[in-house]
Amino acid sequence: MFHGIYLTTKERTYGYYVRILVDVDLSGPLPNSVMVELPDDCILVKVMYENLPLKCIVCGNIGHDRTQCQR
Ligand SMILES: [Zn+2]
Repeated sequence: MFHGIYLTTKERTYGYYVRILVDVDLSGPLPNSVMVELPDDCILVKVMYENLPLKCIVCGNIGHDRTQCQR
């Protein structure tokens, strides 16, 4: 679910990147790009993530990796 975008990015008046806040389903793979709809255009934007939490590939839970998994 998309929560917001800075006005400067929306209007393309400034900047090469933008931080946005979204809800992501962590049970699946994270998207590498998102489609951003502007009033008269639609652009594909590459996604970079900051401060991702550890995700265990064994149990799928967040907060530890496979080396710390209790399963
Ligand atoms: Zn685990």
